[in-house]
Amino acid sequence: MAADIRIGITTTLPIEVLWAAGLRPVDLNNLFIGRGGAEEAVREAEGAGFPRSTCAWIKGIYATARAEGFARVVVVTGGDCSNAAALGEVLADDGVDVVTFAFPPARDRRAIAREIKALARKVGTTVEAAERTYGRLSRGRALLRELDDLTWREGVVSARENFDWLIKACDFGGGAEEFEEDVGRFVAAARARPKRKARVRLGVAGVPPINDDLFEFLEGLGAAVVFNELPRQFALLGGGEDLAEAYTAYTYAYGVRPRIDDILKEVARRRIDGLVHYVQAFCYRGIQDILLRRALPIPVLTLEGERPGPLSAQQRLRLETFVEMLNQNIDAAAGETFV
Ligand code: SF4
Repeated sequence: MAADIRIGITTTLPIEVLWAAGLRPVDLNNLFIGRGGAEEAVREAEGAGFPRSTCAWIKGIYATARAEGFARVVVVTGGDCSNAAALGEVLADDGVDVVTFAFPPARDRRAIAREIKALARKVGTTVEAAERTYGRLSRGRALLRELDDLTWREGVVSARENFDWLIKACDFGGGAEEFEEDVGRFVAAARARPKRKARVRLGVAGVPPINDDLFEFLEGLGAAVVFNELPRQFALLGGGEDLAEAYTAYTYAYGVRPRIDDILKEVARRRIDGLVHYVQAFCYRGIQDILLRRALPIPVLTLEGERPGPLSAQQRLRLETFVEMLNQNIDAAAGETFV
């Protein structure tokens, strides 16, 4: 029987190292949401003993890794999730080979280079081989950069399409060449679409929403989502001449300040009227909402989600009210212009 080359990952990490080692990284978050039965997966994890008051993403990752028979998983114990170490302990006790990776506490190029080297050693490859893989992935990432530009500059890529493509780049769907071909075809078709303009331009910040209809609902209200903060980070579109530089430019792993700086820049560049900050129930990152709100010069709606599935009536009402308020702000600003 052929050896299982799949290796689960719990969040973005230098996947180039895994590929260089002959492995195929699979993002367990994407698999959890994409394979169907997300609510059942959460219940399975609760049945295995995960407390109800644990984030649904953690429970979904656990249940998916077990149900899909992953023999090896990389757990990111620094720079991702306060629950990750405990998740790794449970997986290891279940017999899964758990490899750990930790982003350094500060955005320091030399420190991240050391962690990349340590990961390469753990999985049996070299940094030089991983750098070659990084080079091979650059064409796919360049296409994603164009796709993202087409979203906010031309309005020819929907919020859902933008989100799905960027988030897929967490593991390149398991195959870099096919991914590059698929995204290339999509971008070519999108370039030919007619340009669209929306009155209200929104950004969505925070961890990926567990509710599967957020983008469709917002666009149904006539608003355009022109910025998907973390999927863009997960796709590693910040560039960099090598792995250490690219993973230093990455914001998510280093506290909220680099994220705020990035959001501020994109709010101005993409002319965003309001930001939906999605927070996950029972996630420590919800506290960072305080700092995000203090720093941003535009209205922010904090939207909390808990279990997989569609938006609740209360979430819909809050989003409707928010978009309506932004419409009124735009009317008021237009009135001021003509005074
Ligand atoms: S949403 Fe928060 S608690 Fe849940 S997996 Fe992500 S970082 Fe961890």
